Amino acid sequence: MTMMAVKDIEARLTQAKCAICKKSRFGIDSRSVKEDGDWKAICIDCHYTFPVYADMEFYLQTQPDVKYRLRDIACPNCMKRDHSLNFRIVMSVRESIYFLTCNSCQHQFTEQSSLESFE
Ligand SMILES: [Zn+2]
Ligand SMILES: [Zn+2]
Repeated sequence: MTMMAVKDIEARLTQAKCAICKKSRFGIDSRSVKEDGDWKAICIDCHYTFPVYADMEFYLQTQPDVKYRLRDIACPNCMKRDHSLNFRIVMSVRESIYFLTCNSCQHQFTEQSSLESFE
């Protein structure tokens, strides 16, 4: 299983906005960090917590549709469609965000998903 380090995920979370206060300062609750990859992030400003899913191998196995949807996403930097899904967060019931890295130019970007209703 390949999972990102906690500090790397914290650094990438600054690309998201808190569902409540719209700020972008988050930490991972270290007590929630377990091998299963279901972690908790907390907004430093308003203490809102939301789940972080670090185990994308398992996620893509159980959600095969996601792979097809990801193929439609182009890297905003080089426009190629060759990227890795690093982790995802569920900011609110309506907002889930994928964190991706382009395999071609190494650009890191996010993609909002509103298609989580099958979960
Ligand atoms: Zn907040
Ligand atoms: Zn790229």
